Amino acid sequence: MKFLNIILSILLLILTICGDYIVFKSKYSDSQLFRGFADSLVHASIGCVSAITFFSNGLNIPLSSCICNVSICTVLSSFIDVDHFIVARTFNFKEFVSKRGIFHCTSFCLLITGILYIIYYNTRNPNILLLKFMFLIAYSSHHIRDSNRRGLWLYPYGHTPAIDYYLSVIIICILPHIYVYLYSHLKLNMKTYVNNYTVV
Ligand SMILES: [Zn+2]
Repeated sequence: MKFLNIILSILLLILTICGDYIVFKSKYSDSQLFRGFADSLVHASIGCVSAITFFSNGLNIPLSSCICNVSICTVLSSFIDVDHFIVARTFNFKEFVSKRGIFHCTSFCLLITGILYIIYYNTRNPNILLLKFMFLIAYSSHHIRDSNRRGLWLYPYGHTPAIDYYLSVIIICILPHIYVYLYSHLKLNMKTYVNNYTVV
C-alpha cells in the first residue's frame, strides 16, 4: 500500500508539472480554446489521481463506493471552471479565463465543506462524509493549482499573493495524505454504517 502511495504521489507530481507545461508552454498554448480545454482536463486528472490516492490508504470502503466517489471528484475538479462562463457570460475564451466566479472562492467552498460536515455529524451518514472529502479534494487541488498564477480568493479578505509554483505542486501532492489523516479523525461510528453503502 505504501509503494502504491509513492507511485500515485509521483504520478500527481508528473501530471501537475507536465500538465502545466502542455497548457501554458506548448506550441498549442497560443490557442485560448486549447488552453481552456487542456486546463480543465489537467484539473480533472489531478482530482482523479488525488481521490484514488485518498482511497488507496486502507479506509475499509467498498470498491463500488470508491469508484463512484473518484468519478464524482474527477467531474467536480473540472466543473469548478464552469463559473468562468457564468461570470463572463460569454464563450469568448479570453474574457472567460480572466474572470473567476464563486466556485473559485476558497472561503465559500470552506463554508460548504463545514455545512456538509454538520449534516454528516447529525445524520451519521458516511456517504455525506465521503462527499465532503471528494468536494474538499476537488476544490483544494483546483484552487492551489490556480493559486500559483492568481493567489487564493479568501473572501472577505480578498486575494492572497500568488503562491510559489513548486510550493503549490508539493501541496497538491501532499493534500490527499493529509485528508486521509483528517478522515480517520473525523469519522464517527463508521463501523455500523460502512456496510450500508448503496449510493454515494
Ligand atoms: Zn480554475
